[in-house]
Amino acid sequence: MNTSAVESRYYEVVNGRYRCLLCPNFCVIQKGSRGRCGTRRAGPDILQAVNYGQVSSLNIDPMEKKPLYHYHPGEEVLSVGSLGCNLSCDHCQNHTISQTKIGERDTVFMEPEKLRDLCRSKGIRNLAFTYNEPTIWQEYVVDVLRGQDDLHGILVTNGYVNLPPLQELCEVIKGMNIDIKGFSYEFYRNTCHAALAPVLEAARFVYSRGIHLELTYLVIPGRNDDPDEITQFCEWVTTELGLNVPVHFTRFHPDYLMMDVPDTPLETLAAARDIAYGEGLEYVYIGNAPVHVDSHTYCPSCGEMIVNRRGYETKVLKMDDGHCQICGKRLDIIL
Ligand code: SF4
Repeated sequence: MNTSAVESRYYEVVNGRYRCLLCPNFCVIQKGSRGRCGTRRAGPDILQAVNYGQVSSLNIDPMEKKPLYHYHPGEEVLSVGSLGCNLSCDHCQNHTISQTKIGERDTVFMEPEKLRDLCRSKGIRNLAFTYNEPTIWQEYVVDVLRGQDDLHGILVTNGYVNLPPLQELCEVIKGMNIDIKGFSYEFYRNTCHAALAPVLEAARFVYSRGIHLELTYLVIPGRNDDPDEITQFCEWVTTELGLNVPVHFTRFHPDYLMMDVPDTPLETLAAARDIAYGEGLEYVYIGNAPVHVDSHTYCPSCGEMIVNRRGYETKVLKMDDGHCQICGKRLDIIL
């Protein structure tokens, strides 16, 4: 028995069984069983969130590692994760925790206050819920951050979450990176065993709420790297979100069930970046790449270098009060 379990905030009872309303899987869970993510367990009277406060991983990272390039650049972030995921991607780079259920591996219980105190005691104002899927940690994330205006909550998420719980998360979260894992129904179905449409809906919702949003697209050779697919993705960002949303094309390395696929060639990533710029996106980055690959931020108007990055060394250069020092364009970077 997990003594820290709390009642899930998003479920209904249907014919004596629980239907979880947290994510688009809408698991129907029989008493004594768990949903697909392993974090929701049907108790005798309630659906429990058994992952509440259960921490598997805790580190101090540079913000750029999330990746968030336009939110508090160069600052440290306390990163915390648990166990479980509502997706099961064949290429998951965190599968040792994402595909492990609560109870199958050691975790440490941290009261919300303890996590907040730890963050403050380190002199860090950024707190990221990351490593495994944080939206299935919904109750804990909200409890940690509610009313804590000095802490800047970050989610690094697959965006596979229903809108009512996402809305509650958006009330406490300041920045988000959402993975767009591919831009086809087939890729999501065959590789992630999920659907694309709810992720796009979630991203639209987050953007519409004014939460700082960046997107990550992990480019996998032969799977989601077709130029037409990348173009459709970029068109969607420009039309449904905005030109100012930073997009990270990141490099795939063989992992988990996808060991037979090679690393993404740098040329493929560069081609994706060119497509994105061609579609009008203003901030496009290549990630998981060697340090010599350009990851600076340039003013989209005059081309001046605004943020210099080398590895995880970050220097903000020519920005005043949110604007380019040279041409005055408003930049979408939050210091
Ligand atoms: S959050 Fe978990 S239990 Fe609920 S619907 Fe999603 S996968 Fe199923």
